[in-house]
Amino acid sequence: MKLLEERIRRDGVVKAGGVLKVDSFLNHQMDVELFNEMGKEFKRLFADKNINKILTIEASGIGIACIAAQHFGVPVVFAKKAQSINIDGEVYSTKIQSFTHGKVYDVIVSKKYITPEDRILIIDDFLANGCALEGLIDLVRSAGAAVEGIGICIEKGFQPGGELIRQKGVRLESLAIVDDMNAETGEIKFRQQ
Ligand code: 5GP
Repeated sequence: MKLLEERIRRDGVVKAGGVLKVDSFLNHQMDVELFNEMGKEFKRLFADKNINKILTIEASGIGIACIAAQHFGVPVVFAKKAQSINIDGEVYSTKIQSFTHGKVYDVIVSKKYITPEDRILIIDDFLANGCALEGLIDLVRSAGAAVEGIGICIEKGFQPGGELIRQKGVRLESLAIVDDMNAETGEIKFRQQ
């Protein structure tokens, strides 16, 4: 998506350790007009899928998931990072290793909000090693629901997540794929798609 690539080039900051900071329009301040264009693009890409729910993970996936959901006309469920895992059987849970903090979280979703009839589109802001997506896929499958697709704003193609998820045979669409970036020069290379 050209608009997103241009914005990343203009306002993204390449950090050491393979981290791309996009706080000025995606992860802290949010450019809602850009979100709306991204939401429209997700709808176009998944127009052939009969999606009835969007699943994301707190916190940074929630904004884009909500705007995308308006284009699909469906509700959003966000998986919660739990302090202590609830063992009363009311939730599905999984463990996710955070790329940005290195910690492992228990992540939960209430059994009330994902059911076997659901046809789910997973949305998130970034794809790096794929841990967040593996956890979300696990939650959906624990509920007996179907993952119809995954929509990502920015995939870092030089990290293994994209390959890992595509190998599972899940349809993954990333609006921008960064194949290389240099923390010293600030240069960013996008994959042609
Ligand atoms: P993964 O689980 O794929 O390794 O990492 C995905 C999560 O880590 C995303 O939900 C996102 O919040 C965060 N993340 C990973 N890489 C980056 C990055 O380069 N920049 C930012 N801002 N967040 C990232």
